[in-house]
Amino acid sequence: MKKVYADRIPYKFLCFEMMNRKLILTLVFLWELPQNLLGIVVLAVIMVRKSILKFELKNHLFCIETQNIGLSLGWFVFWTPSGNRFSSIENDCLLHELGHAKQSLMLGPFYLIVVGIPSLSRVVYRCLYRRILGFAWNNYYNGFPENWADSLGGIPIPKKNNTKAIRNRVASKHFHLSSDFLINQFYSWQKPFLKKSQFSYRNQ
Ligand SMILES: [Zn+2]
Repeated sequence: MKKVYADRIPYKFLCFEMMNRKLILTLVFLWELPQNLLGIVVLAVIMVRKSILKFELKNHLFCIETQNIGLSLGWFVFWTPSGNRFSSIENDCLLHELGHAKQSLMLGPFYLIVVGIPSLSRVVYRCLYRRILGFAWNNYYNGFPENWADSLGGIPIPKKNNTKAIRNRVASKHFHLSSDFLINQFYSWQKPFLKKSQFSYRNQ
């Protein structure tokens, strides 16, 4: 396969790529605006409380490790090591919250209604259950939208009636949705409008 060196890529094409990326990310940010605004507020509160352990950028997502918060609001993914459920998986709390981030990307302005409200209801139910009955409710992750977030995050789901057994799911089968996926889709839509040389560079 013919190698393409950076200094041979036309400058105009580089500018075109950068503009496309910025445009797509701006549109995605606006699509997820309600939860993004809420995420900024939560981030500000956590920063004031100084409970951020680590800050990481994954694709366009800000992954924020906190002491005790697991919450996904658009581009702001808060997770905590204390939220990990499986000893066999590293950081399954983060994977779960990244699953919610995919839901946010899919649902856009409907995320808080479709996912936020049912999720919050489950949190309230879990708290009341514990307070009234005195022991933990183990079905929090077994219903919508938590099981969907697990699935999108690539977390192996325990089989029904056998919480110890782990059903291995092949990661490649998972619905892949990220900013890079969107950008590549965007390029494929532009194929008829791109010069042949530009498109062949992208496909190498
Ligand atoms: Zn969740």
